[in-house]
Amino acid sequence: MALTPKPPLSITTLANLTILSLLFFSGPSHSTQPLDKTQEQRFVDCFGDLIHDPLLNFTILHALGTPSYEEYFKAPIKNLRFINSTSNKPSFIMTPTSLQQISNAFVCARNASFHIRARSGGHDYEGLSYISQSSNPYILIDLNSSSIVIDIEKGNAMVQSGATIGELYYEIAQKSNTTAFPAGICPTIGVGGHFIGGGIGALMRKYGVSADNIEDVRVVRPDGALVGRINMGEDHFWAIRGGGSNFGIITAFQIRLVSVPPIVTTFAITKTLEQGAARLVERWQHVAPKLDDDAFIRIIALAADDKESNEKRTINATFQCLFLGGASKLVAIMDEKFPELGVKPEDCEEMSWIQSVLDFAGYGKNASLEILKSRKPQFEGSYKGKSDFVKEPISEKGWNEIWRFMMEGKDEPVVMIMDPWGGKLDEIDEGDIAFPHRKGNLYNIQYFMRWPEKDEQVAKRHLDWMRKFYELMTPYVSKSPRAAYLNYKDLDLGWNKETSTNYSDASVWGEKYFLNNYKKLAYVKGKVDPYSIMWDEQSIHPLL
Ligand SMILES: Cc1cc2nc3c(=O)[nH]c(=O)nc-3n(C[C@H](O)[C@H](O)[C@H](O)COP(=O)(O)OP(=O)(O)OC[C@H]3O[C@@H](n4cnc5c(N)ncnc54)[C@H](O)[C@@H]3O)c2cc1C
Repeated sequence: MALTPKPPLSITTLANLTILSLLFFSGPSHSTQPLDKTQEQRFVDCFGDLIHDPLLNFTILHALGTPSYEEYFKAPIKNLRFINSTSNKPSFIMTPTSLQQISNAFVCARNASFHIRARSGGHDYEGLSYISQSSNPYILIDLNSSSIVIDIEKGNAMVQSGATIGELYYEIAQKSNTTAFPAGICPTIGVGGHFIGGGIGALMRKYGVSADNIEDVRVVRPDGALVGRINMGEDHFWAIRGGGSNFGIITAFQIRLVSVPPIVTTFAITKTLEQGAARLVERWQHVAPKLDDDAFIRIIALAADDKESNEKRTINATFQCLFLGGASKLVAIMDEKFPELGVKPEDCEEMSWIQSVLDFAGYGKNASLEILKSRKPQFEGSYKGKSDFVKEPISEKGWNEIWRFMMEGKDEPVVMIMDPWGGKLDEIDEGDIAFPHRKGNLYNIQYFMRWPEKDEQVAKRHLDWMRKFYELMTPYVSKSPRAAYLNYKDLDLGWNKETSTNYSDASVWGEKYFLNNYKKLAYVKGKVDPYSIMWDEQSIHPLL
């Protein structure tokens, strides 16, 4: 069932709704409804009372076991290893058509002792937006309002959480060929989950991550209040920019757009071990994080059969570049800073920024822009991601050890994606916003594996191998803590057991994701969501 996208509410409306919702807010008691009703019935009754329209319940609340529930549950799932999962599913899926309904859902969830989770694009690596490893009952709020309003003159845009970054890129391109936004590579990612975890991509060395470019938000706080930057408090606004799904449901973001030249240049050069990939990757670590911030060169490395001999394995390392300028300037920079790669004019292609988005996403620069609006994933199957940050270059000897392990895993199609840090990321302090990964990092590694089967046994084999690979990487990556990127969520780092985990247990993964910002985030959680209504396996434990 299609929902009509709703424009974001103005601050005045928000303020009125805030007062309204505070009137509804029932105070500290966790359960104010008669206990002889089922938990589900208490929620439905409370919700019906608040909206004064019992019929609406049937169109926006979908109870577990009903046909509409199955449809809403499965459609946005991208990671197919979770589609038939026996893990705990939400008791209700709510498909809201107004902010007030989300506010009411929080109030009633608290009355009936449910947790709340949000889903925007459904890409969560561990499926935490729609399944749970714990038996705690919860309600899923599916955010499918996706309006995007671009204001080129003001240099900003208002984007609802249910939009994808592909839709955002598309709408920007309709208005200007010299305007862009720094966010991820894969167009089907949801704005909601992506921005609150950071948002890394090809423009981050020039402009920072997505979260660095958020000017304002529309949030339904766990107490039911509807707030924006003007009345939410700076700490709450700070926490939303990188602190993940802990601080209410963000329904819309006001983002600062950035400038790009009319012509940008890309290249993708693949080298095998026989062509010197090990030496080039070693060299790249010294060069890429220090290049001019107009240049972004990442590496995508994977093991493959050697074309010359089927018996032999090799590594294909692809050096993929986005340069904010013309080809001749890029070739001159590469000649000076990275001559070993041997970039020639014929390796480079000039294009508009939006074509580079298509190119990086794997569609090719001449694909129709309409493809950016497609929500169909480019790959249908299962996946697992893990991440690391590298602070000291890994030696060629180290790389040979890494390549050996990857080549031996013949049935383990892992891809190492290495995104260079430096540039703008070095200029922003760790504590400026909640996203903490700044100066001192050379690059981020994502270990990503995907496979076609949904089967749990197949998944287990791949997951076990990924864990061994992660273990092998220990000496080469950041330590104390071994940092990880929240958007590449990884339950191997640890998780909350039911609700019994405390602050210090949760710091095992919390400090990996948030470094020195973790404690402040826990205090903000204590203020904004003291009862952990927004709870999941890796949510932050509130400090009061
Ligand atoms: C194929 C693929 C490519 C990717 N490429 C990149 C990349 O280039 N760069 C990068 O940085 N990341 C990338 N990612 C990771 C991606 O940024 C995260 O998975 C992100 O969390 C996805 O957001 P979503 O809205 O699609 O997911 P969801 O599953 O909907 O949400 C993810 C998390 O955010 C919470 N959440 C969602 N919406 C809201 C909201 N409105 N308010 C509060 N909480 C909310 C959910 O509860 C969940 O915890 C990629 C992921 C995949 C699968």
